[in-house]
Amino acid sequence: MDIIHTCQALAAEIGGRCRKKGAQQEGQKHLFCPSHHRNGQVVPRAFKYLIRFTLGVGWEGRIRDARFPIIDDRAGQLSRNATHERRAREVGRDFHAYRGKGEEAKNRKGDDGSLVFRPHVKDAYVQGLFDEMWVTDCSGLVLSEVEVKVKKKQGEILGFTLSCIFMDRELSTPYIMSDKQIRFVERLLGQTWGKVFIYDNPPKEPDGRKVTINCTSASQADAQYSIGFNDGLFDLKEIPVATTATA
Ligand SMILES: [Zn+2]
Repeated sequence: MDIIHTCQALAAEIGGRCRKKGAQQEGQKHLFCPSHHRNGQVVPRAFKYLIRFTLGVGWEGRIRDARFPIIDDRAGQLSRNATHERRAREVGRDFHAYRGKGEEAKNRKGDDGSLVFRPHVKDAYVQGLFDEMWVTDCSGLVLSEVEVKVKKKQGEILGFTLSCIFMDRELSTPYIMSDKQIRFVERLLGQTWGKVFIYDNPPKEPDGRKVTINCTSASQADAQYSIGFNDGLFDLKEIPVATTATA
């Protein structure tokens, strides 16, 4: 699968990461689109990174056993859109800047930011990404919140999302996970994720941009890619095909 890497420059007009296709030019470290080749400024680190794992109903027992705080996802997409719009207004940003206008806007569902790898990363391993954000001192981030949302329809549980929120160390206090919760998260990090979408969102909050990393379709397949944090710019490493099975 050909994966398009998005330009790593700051698009001044939207205050967020450029949405165009990036490419490496000779003598340059970063991937830039043609309009940012000459004088592109690398997009600064966001203030918040959220890794969200989408989990099916089969995970319910283990989620409850690990005693994560569980909240009903009552908001729904409609009110989420309204929230996005309000936040864009608060920071004086055009809500439609990323959506386009007219016909283009109709075909886009949300103000969903710049998709870092397009269309998505298939069969990816995110342990390295998590470790870079959490374990290493150089990231400057801290795990500040962990929450599980339950998705229900007419009282029936359809699935869960577990979100791990990382914030600037200066702005937040650490969330201390119990041993059971750590084991649960380690289990997620040991999975291959069938589809990973990374959205670098334009500023909707006064503190700045938020980046969301959505991991869906947990599978037993061998991972093809490992995703790295790379100081908030993200990178992909291909995983060589193993010749012997690992236990
Ligand atoms: Zn660009």
